Amino acid sequence: MASICELHRQLINKERSAVEIATEALDRIDRLEPKLKSFLCVTADRALEQARQVDAQIAAGEEIGPLAGIPIAIKDNMCTEGIPTTCASKILQNFVPPYESTVTQKLQAAGAVILGKTNLDEFAMGSSTENSAYQLTANPWDLERVPGGSSGGSAAAVASEEAVVALGSDTGGSIRQPASFCGVVGMKPTYGLVSRYGLVAYASSLDQIGPFGRTVKDAAILLNAIAGYDPKDATSLNVEIPDYTASLKPHLRPRGKMKVGVIKETFGSGLDPVVEQAVTKAIDVLQSLGAEIQVISCPRFRYGLPTYYIIAPSEASANLARYDGVKYGFRSPDAENLIEMYAKTRAEGFGAEVKRRIMVGTYALSAGYYDAYYLKAQKVRTLIKEDFDRAFTQVEVLVCPTSPTTAFKAGEKTADPLSMYLSDLMTIPVNLAGLPALSIPCGFDEQGLPIGMQLIGKVLGEGRLLEVAHAYEQATSWHIKKPPLK
Ligand code: GLN
Repeated sequence: MASICELHRQLINKERSAVEIATEALDRIDRLEPKLKSFLCVTADRALEQARQVDAQIAAGEEIGPLAGIPIAIKDNMCTEGIPTTCASKILQNFVPPYESTVTQKLQAAGAVILGKTNLDEFAMGSSTENSAYQLTANPWDLERVPGGSSGGSAAAVASEEAVVALGSDTGGSIRQPASFCGVVGMKPTYGLVSRYGLVAYASSLDQIGPFGRTVKDAAILLNAIAGYDPKDATSLNVEIPDYTASLKPHLRPRGKMKVGVIKETFGSGLDPVVEQAVTKAIDVLQSLGAEIQVISCPRFRYGLPTYYIIAPSEASANLARYDGVKYGFRSPDAENLIEMYAKTRAEGFGAEVKRRIMVGTYALSAGYYDAYYLKAQKVRTLIKEDFDRAFTQVEVLVCPTSPTTAFKAGEKTADPLSMYLSDLMTIPVNLAGLPALSIPCGFDEQGLPIGMQLIGKVLGEGRLLEVAHAYEQATSWHIKKPPLK
């Protein structure tokens, strides 16, 4: 599949119709899904109907926007009216939302062709998509490996060109880490930039929806379409939204004006040497493009992981209390009374990781432990944010690896939740501070698996981030390489 701009050009020059483009994507899905399993549900009829509408607009001489007729995939934790939204959980097996999330509504209004809903770790809890109650998604670069998570289905769909772009959600790294594992661009915007209305809540103070694309420009175009104030989300930011493609230029000019900080604490022990090498080389490229490189210390960065694993489960334990078998979703069929129905529904409906987090969160919030765990974690969260605030008085963008390793084998970490949690070491502090960040391909390991570099920006610094990422992309060719899929 070509880029958004190329497809748009073909559409307006009437070289190809939107139906032809949608059909190409649907055929590719048909061919690849038996191996990849990125999608939980493919909405072919709706996609073709949307494409026909775009074609009718073009035929009538109407002007179409950049996303009109572009095939896109949606992570299955965003509500889509009339289309099942399962969060890859058994407890939402039969849930068909009666309303549309703000992001998908905006995409439909922009004429985007929604292909279907992608696989994820149950309720977005995980780093490999292996916590899905339904299926395992393969990494397009090596089918025995995981695509990362929790937005693994969206990342795999974009990397394999089943879709041109996709939406994911990122609570602790769930867009950036799978983007890194699958060799695509993935961005978590500033907290509040994109509406969470209709995004099934995991940890509400951390969750944020963002774009996946094979290029920075595609991601920027998708961000343009989904960003913006929404009165239906109480944490939505009421700010002017710039055109994020406007800052995409091949060089960082004027030379020396862009200060980029390398986070010292993210290098060294625990980091796969091949990842370290690739990111170090990428930093040299940034320098050659005109960035002034500075080493920055964020001493409290390392408390991100333990802090997150108190705050996120605490919020999850509250958010997931609504799945009780009464209002919607799965209900255990064989309970004698109400209390037993609640218990059995939750025992049978939730998977092991979700239960683990509900228990940890409930414990951390309980009267005797609230101060020692939850309150303490909130204080450390503030300290982590202070480290970033200090760093951003010296530089405009921070850089570090996205994940300490490349994609691991399916099953390799499922028995050891702690080692799984470590894959988000570098991404989690960003969510705790509410900052924007993206992952961009910056190399391959000796097995041909993609490596990602993370760029972190100031609050609402998306434009700067995309500018640096685009300049880097133009100077390198990692994004051109394709996974060896037949
Ligand atoms: N892997 C992290 C977790 O399991 C982050 C998930 C996410 O960003 N949704 O919580």
